[in-house]
Amino acid sequence: MTAHAPRVLVAGFQHETNTFAAAPADYANFENGEGFPALRRGERVRELEPVNLPVGGFLQQARARGWDVLPVIWAAASPSGPVTAATYERIAGDIVDAARASRPDAVYLDLHGAMVVEHHDDGEGELLSRVRAVVGPDVPVVASLDLHANMSARMFDAADALVCYRTYPHVDMAGTGARAAGLLARRLAGERLRLAWRRVPFLIPINSGCTDLEPARSVYGGLEALDGRDACASFAAGFPAADIPDCGPVVWAYGTGAVREIVDRLYDEITRDEEKWAVELLEPADAVARALGTDVTGPDGPTGPVVIADTQDNPGAGGSARTTGMLRALLAAGSAEPTAIGLITDPDAPQPPRMQGWARPWTWPSGVNHWCGATSP
Ligand SMILES: [Zn+2]
Repeated sequence: MTAHAPRVLVAGFQHETNTFAAAPADYANFENGEGFPALRRGERVRELEPVNLPVGGFLQQARARGWDVLPVIWAAASPSGPVTAATYERIAGDIVDAARASRPDAVYLDLHGAMVVEHHDDGEGELLSRVRAVVGPDVPVVASLDLHANMSARMFDAADALVCYRTYPHVDMAGTGARAAGLLARRLAGERLRLAWRRVPFLIPINSGCTDLEPARSVYGGLEALDGRDACASFAAGFPAADIPDCGPVVWAYGTGAVREIVDRLYDEITRDEEKWAVELLEPADAVARALGTDVTGPDGPTGPVVIADTQDNPGAGGSARTTGMLRALLAAGSAEPTAIGLITDPDAPQPPRMQGWARPWTWPSGVNHWCGATSP
């Protein structure tokens, strides 16, 4: 154990890459952060301590444990196509240069796990390997990841410990950073953590990974129940739209107990009855027909709208939000029900003739034109 307060390098670089998406992630996307806080460097990374992000939970723990934090950079951008090579080299380069120059006692990285770069399929495996190469084999390197991480052997080889979120929708980001800090504390205290991991032999649809519903609720609840010195287990459901060789779910655990047996038990639970992870997706016309056939009348009148989610064109997973199949199906159904569609992003999108006079265009700060409107005939 180090006699002085451990000097812990802290950095974040998050991107969820949908390689089917056309638009790449450029430096400007990280600079403004989009759905995330804007890119920040050095001392300004500490501003994220109270934020529900992995780096926030980690910084809180670092303060409580008296660690000497060396903040480098924190950057994230909305899901999109691959991160450009120049952007990756600039941000990853800053992290690796800082690790080389500062000779830290430990490294914590706040990563996503599904980052694909123009010149690397495994953005996190590449970054962790570069960091490992400069800090050497004896400096603990830990990282937190999104539940949608695509885990690779390279990531496991380069890191001392990896943990991922246990909720989707994600609400436990800070808690995940705190869990990473807990494992780092054990490494700094000289504990040797054993690792066991197994890859699940099928993909899990994003929609069925919701941890408010079964089967994910029970699987993730089981991880929580295991937490202790014997094992800290994680299950990354993966991000199929990254479409790389390492796509898919992985279950793993670090600890001093029987981690292999623990992972085998979790693996059996996850893979038993693969069908439980299947999700029913409807064609647009069938979805509209089902919505129109749904009785939303309560004793005091309508109880609320029926929502159709076009889950494959989800901007939160790299979709462009400018496909028009659902709009076409709504128009074809010709219902008199009040209907709204939102949102379609395409500066060049012509307004469909039947929408004239209904659509209300507006402009977001990014300059992209959005519109919404009713499809009542
Ligand atoms: Zn996610």
